[in-house]
Amino acid sequence: MRLEKVQEVCLRRGIIFPSAEIYGSVAGFYEWGPIGFSIKKKFIEAWRDFFIKPYGFYEIEGSLVLPEKVFEASGHLKGFVDPITQCENCKTIHRADHLIEECTKMFVEGKSEEELTEIIREKGLKCPRCGGNLSEVRMFNLMLKTEISPVGGIPAYLRPETAQNIFTSFSRIFKAMRGKLPFGIAQIGKSFRNEISPRRFLIRLREFHQAEIEVFFDPDNPECPFFHEVEEKDIPLLTREAQKEGKEASMINVKEAVETGLIPNEWLGFFLAKEFEFYTKLGIPPECLRFRHMLPEETPHYSKGNFDLEIKFDFGWKEVVGNAYRTDYDLRRHSEFSKKDLSVDVNGKKVLPHVVEPSFGIDRTILAVLLFSFREKGYDRDWNWMKLPNFLAPFHAAVFPLVSKDGLPEKAREIFEVLKKELEVFYDEKGSIGKRYARADEIGIPACVTIDYQTMEDETVTIRDRDTKQQKRVKIEKLVEEIRKIISY
Ligand code: AMP
Repeated sequence: MRLEKVQEVCLRRGIIFPSAEIYGSVAGFYEWGPIGFSIKKKFIEAWRDFFIKPYGFYEIEGSLVLPEKVFEASGHLKGFVDPITQCENCKTIHRADHLIEECTKMFVEGKSEEELTEIIREKGLKCPRCGGNLSEVRMFNLMLKTEISPVGGIPAYLRPETAQNIFTSFSRIFKAMRGKLPFGIAQIGKSFRNEISPRRFLIRLREFHQAEIEVFFDPDNPECPFFHEVEEKDIPLLTREAQKEGKEASMINVKEAVETGLIPNEWLGFFLAKEFEFYTKLGIPPECLRFRHMLPEETPHYSKGNFDLEIKFDFGWKEVVGNAYRTDYDLRRHSEFSKKDLSVDVNGKKVLPHVVEPSFGIDRTILAVLLFSFREKGYDRDWNWMKLPNFLAPFHAAVFPLVSKDGLPEKAREIFEVLKKELEVFYDEKGSIGKRYARADEIGIPACVTIDYQTMEDETVTIRDRDTKQQKRVKIEKLVEEIRKIISY
């Protein structure tokens, strides 16, 4: 499996590895080492450039810990639950719905505890680990609870999504920024979920990064001013009918999908089309992307349309972005619970805005990028390499002296110091040059600059291209320009 191989590279190269490793670590928590962190930073910048800056949306940084009231209003306290069952023999806890789906291929989304227990009994399902009997199913809340203050603790939770800060702070931000509908607020940050069985590396974590945008608009005026950018575009849509008939996604024109009501409004259509373009730029093949219209039983009662962007991994299709038309649900609930009027004035009319939300999982997306860019040893060379999109590469270039003698390292350091001012570069002088190229390829560095004996004579170096392995000689003074050519997109 590609996943295990990429995970091995991530561990060995310190890219992404388990937290508190020296103490045995806890499932679902990972550290991003220097290379991983650099990739993540670049991903976030690219996401900002693509989804935020051109459209004048505002970004905030809200707190990770929020009081219980927030989640009472949002519905998380009651409804953010997963069904679990425990083995009476080995005590392992299983996600009841996943266990049933895996063992019977039945689709059980939205079923109650009683219904799930009944299926387990009827089908005679046992613990997959030890064959023991399974307990009755009960619901488990996925939020991580904490307490504020040393005495008489105030109950609070680590946020399970970044969106709630945006809703609770909406009024203040709208006023402070002299807002006008439509109005977009985004947040990139950590979210926490006490997942029952974290697994598949970055797919299901207990602490993960999300990037969410909430666009607030007047339901009487739902036009998206940027829709013209995407209206000609086709996107792979898996309709509810196609799902029932076991068919694949088909390419559907965004404008038509909005006009026929398949996609509920222009804002949602806009985001789906932009996501398709963005994920293709990330190197995910278009045929491995689809937007699945969630079935009625999977859709929250207040939503007027949920479309998950899914990627086809080796282990099946997985959601990487949740897109939802949340109507006025969140602002209405927070209005009711806080007793604050969260409506805005639109030409003398009071409007409680409606919301469209794309919710991106950053870790899952980066995992997909790593998996699709991974070229295993033997593919076209004798070592692993990553065909990372160059704008995500952890370093723009690596600088190597051919050998570590005869003044070459000193010259290489000198060049490294110059490049460092303009680019992100990595210096290495240990080991054979072939091994150093291989190490640079494995983490996706697009260009390697080598200082050799000729450099000492004519102020030229070689630049090697990661993808083609071709080398060319360039003047040191042209080096920055040449590397920029390689990394531009
Ligand atoms: P959701 O609110 O569940 O639709 O989540 C939005 C996005 O966050 C998903 O599409 C995932 O990419 C990401 N996500 C949700 N839960 C997890 C998790 N446990 N681990 C990693 N990413 C997650």
